[in-house]
Amino acid sequence: MRLDKLLFETGFGSRRTVKRLIKSKQVEVNGKTILVDNLNVDPELQEVKVAGERIHYQPHVYYMLHKPNGVVSAVTDDNNQTVIDLIDPSQRVAGLFPVGRLDKDTEGLLLLTNNGQLGYQLLIPKKEVTKSYEAIVNERVTSEDQVAFAKGIVFDGGIKCKPAKLTILSSSNNESRVLLEISEGKFHQVKKMFLSVGKKVTYLKRLSMGPLELDETLPVGSYRPLHLEELTALR
Ligand code: URA
Repeated sequence: MRLDKLLFETGFGSRRTVKRLIKSKQVEVNGKTILVDNLNVDPELQEVKVAGERIHYQPHVYYMLHKPNGVVSAVTDDNNQTVIDLIDPSQRVAGLFPVGRLDKDTEGLLLLTNNGQLGYQLLIPKKEVTKSYEAIVNERVTSEDQVAFAKGIVFDGGIKCKPAKLTILSSSNNESRVLLEISEGKFHQVKKMFLSVGKKVTYLKRLSMGPLELDETLPVGSYRPLHLEELTALR
């Protein structure tokens, strides 16, 4: 494997950061400082060090799952099928977990990885990673609702949501289709936001998380490894 790829996959940052690391003479292979990023290395046979520390290469996996309704976003569950159960046993590596939670009845984009650091970065509130959802709501969604969402919905009990962008795709007295962009991940957030304006979400699907967009060619319930560009954009 190329040295720059190895460092990238081990979590030393973007391709550019990794190249800089090599140029700044911080990378050694078998005790020799390496200045070229395309050197072929075998991390299992050769000792690769960054700033004097040996790196432990554990390949990370990243799967985009099109989560179906009826499956829980957990690693194990006594009573329900989990998103991990949807992964082929041969690809169910140790430490695989869903990055964030979708409700049991929510469909759509879910990232699964065994890279705890990346998962953590995507979930910390400070990062304000944008998530977008398509929802069907049981009533007419109005421009007043759009204004309320843009100002920041306040839940019963006083918890305030950050401003959210609500786009109405279609709206009638007994059903509306909307897109919603939020930049936080409170428990049942989308459903509770609509409940705050007296409406019920009857269908919810996550379309994107940060730069990662659901691949609509993925059948519901199936998954695929992230493409390199998708992974690069996430980091
Ligand atoms: N908001 C919800 O209410 N449910 C989800 O699954 C995700 C966001």
